[in-house]
Amino acid sequence: MLRSAKQDSILRNMKREHYDCIVVGAGPAGLSASLFLARYRHRTVTFHHNSPRNEYSHGVHGFLGHHGIPPAELLARGRAEVKQHGGAIIEASVNAVEQIADQHFLVTASGETFETRRLLIATGLRDLTPQCPGFSEFYGVSVHHCPDCDGYESRDKHIAVLGSGKKIVGFALGFLTWTDRVTLITGGETGDLSEEHRARLASLNIRVLEKSVAALEGDEDAKQLQRVRFTDGELLECEALFFNLGTELASDLHEMLGCKTDEESGLVWVDQTQQTSVEGVYAAGDVTPHSQLAVVAAAEGAMAAIHIHQSLLPTARKL
Ligand SMILES: Cc1cc2nc3c(=O)[nH]c(=O)nc-3n(C[C@H](O)[C@H](O)[C@H](O)COP(=O)(O)OP(=O)(O)OC[C@H]3O[C@@H](n4cnc5c(N)ncnc54)[C@H](O)[C@@H]3O)c2cc1C
Repeated sequence: MLRSAKQDSILRNMKREHYDCIVVGAGPAGLSASLFLARYRHRTVTFHHNSPRNEYSHGVHGFLGHHGIPPAELLARGRAEVKQHGGAIIEASVNAVEQIADQHFLVTASGETFETRRLLIATGLRDLTPQCPGFSEFYGVSVHHCPDCDGYESRDKHIAVLGSGKKIVGFALGFLTWTDRVTLITGGETGDLSEEHRARLASLNIRVLEKSVAALEGDEDAKQLQRVRFTDGELLECEALFFNLGTELASDLHEMLGCKTDEESGLVWVDQTQQTSVEGVYAAGDVTPHSQLAVVAAAEGAMAAIHIHQSLLPTARKL
């Protein structure tokens, strides 16, 4: 990763210092936490490697006051606000974290080691995406994964839903909120649809195509999907496609520290203060088992910062 001479110099000077909190991740969760931590005048540094989950999206929907803002612009504004308050942000990958004593951690970023009393993991998720030609041409504009984020923008359109497994029927039914033209594509997987589910889908006019997708096609300049081409040559005309193929955690830092995961989701378990099962380690945003929205991630980051601040106060200042 290329860093400027100025960032290298900051890294050299920082590495011997002891931080109140290190934040890993500069998406909405990490930046929101960094902003509050800087406002509480804690010594903090935030690391990121510039790969927010929604980098392919054309606009962040439903973020009050910022509806439709390009994701890169939201984050650039956030980074500027953190820096205006004296917070440090470094573009460097965190490769290792280690607990060396109670509430005392070592963080290794791009080969250099830092010490901190608190750690916030805000490293987000990665989406498992369809591996077919055409996907990246339409992703973020007419191909999506999140109905909460992009369902409204697809209202009254013919929506194709791609996925399999137990949750896909509920996922498909959800689109009836916005349109009465929904087709479920299982990608050739047939085993998971029970007779009851098939009957329910049929009763609500949701067609099921148990076929494998060969390609997504449409107007690539406008990033507008127009049809799904199947491996048997059949075409499905549609205007939007939502997929539900699962996600994976973007980092394994929580595993290095032994943080407990939530049984159902596999995400990082946190208590009401955003603290993980390891004292001094907090988590916020998509890594935790709540709604995966930018505005929720930002709120969790703020909550984490407030509780980290409280935990850092000397006993004499607590009542
Ligand atoms: C295509 C798409 C469209 C979306 N649209 C919307 C929408 O319209 N509205 C909405 O509310 N939500 C939307 N979302 C969801 C939203 O993007 C996420 O909920 C939000 O980004 C989560 O924020 P986060 O801070 O938890 O993680 P992220 O934004 O994913 O940020 C993770 C951060 O961690 C850093 N990182 C990861 N690993 C490391 C490491 N080892 N070292 C250093 N840094 C690391 C990354 O560089 C990044 O800075 C969309 C998501 C996608 C994929």
